[in-house]
Amino acid sequence: MTNTDCLAPDKDPMGAAIHDYHNKGKAGRLRVFSSQFEEDEIPVSNLFRTYGEMPRLEQIALQAAHGHILDVGAGSGCHTLALKKMEKDALPIDISPLSVEVMQAHGLNARLANVFDPHFIGQFDTVLMLMNGSGIIGRLENIGAFFGRMKQLLAPDGCVLMDSSDLRYLFEDEDGSFAIDLAADYYGQVDFRMQYKRIKGDSFDWLYIDFNTLSLYASQYGFKAEKMAEGEHYDYLARLTLG
Ligand code: SAH
Repeated sequence: MTNTDCLAPDKDPMGAAIHDYHNKGKAGRLRVFSSQFEEDEIPVSNLFRTYGEMPRLEQIALQAAHGHILDVGAGSGCHTLALKKMEKDALPIDISPLSVEVMQAHGLNARLANVFDPHFIGQFDTVLMLMNGSGIIGRLENIGAFFGRMKQLLAPDGCVLMDSSDLRYLFEDEDGSFAIDLAADYYGQVDFRMQYKRIKGDSFDWLYIDFNTLSLYASQYGFKAEKMAEGEHYDYLARLTLG
């Protein structure tokens, strides 16, 4: 079962950081913990990036987005704001109540919604999932539910534009061979937990998926995956269409 809930305001560290940055022009440390990695931080200002500050893959996605656009996991709304400047029409949704509040303060018609919630309905020409957007799928076993949701949300001829990193570089040995344990869980499944000031979020699953695995599952669920562009570090932008 995929989770279809939104976050409680007291379990929304990223939203709290976005809220502070929006109100004060600065924020504290948004800390990221994982059982697989060392502690890390997300620079909160990055969540407010303008078109010119975005990585090339995101710029390509925004250029390609057309028609009625759904910005899934929109955060501060940076992609929807950039699309608005391009006179494109996007609906940003997020499970973070504080992020949705900030987007609404920016004049965006943002909705508090989980993309997996069947009560959230609409017909979109483009579904955007950016900043390792595949992460929202959570785990590989949710991928059928993900494609099922996309079938419900896409207009005929619609497409999903999603970016991801392939985490294989973490398993690459110096001689160029790979030390991936094939019997273990898929190597792109990561757990994260965030903390901002005293606000601690619950742990959540985040799926990084390599393009071949994405393509195989896409065809299994009636979709076609195309690689639109590659980034500089095992990252790529994919377009998913009903095949
Ligand atoms: N797209 C934004 C934010 C990326 S962070 C940017 O590029 O800056 C990922 C966002 O997805 C967070 O704001 C998180 O609250 C949201 N999110 C996670 N799971 C979600 C889901 N199932 N439905 C909608 N939003 C989700």
